Amino acid sequence: MEILNIKEFTSSWKEKLKHDVWFYDIDRRIGIIGHANMPYVKGLVRDCAEIGIIAKVYDYDEDINTIDYLKLVYGAETYNDYIILQTPLPPAVDAQEIKKHMNASKDIDNFTGRSKLVANTPLGIVRYLDACGFEYEGADAVVIGRSDVVGKPMAQMLLDKNCTVTICHSKTQYLQRYSNWADLVVVAAGKPEWFFPNMMAGSAKLVVDVGINEKDGKIVGDVHPYHHGVIPVTPVPGGVGLLTRCALLEQVINT
Ligand code: NAD
Repeated sequence: MEILNIKEFTSSWKEKLKHDVWFYDIDRRIGIIGHANMPYVKGLVRDCAEIGIIAKVYDYDEDINTIDYLKLVYGAETYNDYIILQTPLPPAVDAQEIKKHMNASKDIDNFTGRSKLVANTPLGIVRYLDACGFEYEGADAVVIGRSDVVGKPMAQMLLDKNCTVTICHSKTQYLQRYSNWADLVVVAAGKPEWFFPNMMAGSAKLVVDVGINEKDGKIVGDVHPYHHGVIPVTPVPGGVGLLTRCALLEQVINT
């Protein structure tokens, strides 16, 4: 397995997408329900402009309620081919209500669980693992986190590739028991620099750090920086976020 540089990998992925938009004369609009100042949202808007897709951000106050949030969703669905919601949703918004009322055919991240498209973060990670030549068959993979848009679909995709998959979550006891022998660990707990080196043996091939957290005014991952250099860890920022954006654009273009 060769650990590829994620920036270089996604840059050539974007070049291909840009070519496809131009060559097949693809015309798409995506609506992003999220905060315009969030790095992920800013990056997605920039990528869309770069490859020729129209993106519109629907921003809100963090204390928005379910009804007002749904109005934003409906508005975005009317104007765009696809929409994506920034998660976690604002605290007063009932995720189940949104899932129930959202138009599944416009749901680019399979937030509803009813979309024909797949979740972008795990798709981006799988594309990257494929390119690195990760040997799925027989590999032990541990996914930390069981959310609908990251943990669960990640585990399912790795299972479909014939990994032996263990899902850990907030109620897992002695997580180290599982992470210790893993070949691949995907950390998506949403806890800043929380995953420590003593949670795994040195035999792992790669740790994928999905976390995007704010700490002391900086964006940090879920994996403690002490990890770097011991076992390869995908960087934050400049790691899974870039893969997620490319996967999203690929799905927008190809469907
Ligand atoms: P979430 O809050 O919905 O889920 C977090 C999961 O982590 C839960 O299933 C919970 O059980 C588990 N967890 C929490 N504490 C744990 C612990 N101590 N031990 C084991 N498991 C624990 O979050 P999410 O939407 O899945 O996102 C997770 C992180 O990934 C967040 O930081 C989010 O910002 C980030 N994220 C990044 C990208 C990207 O493109 N890089 C995309 C989506 C989410």
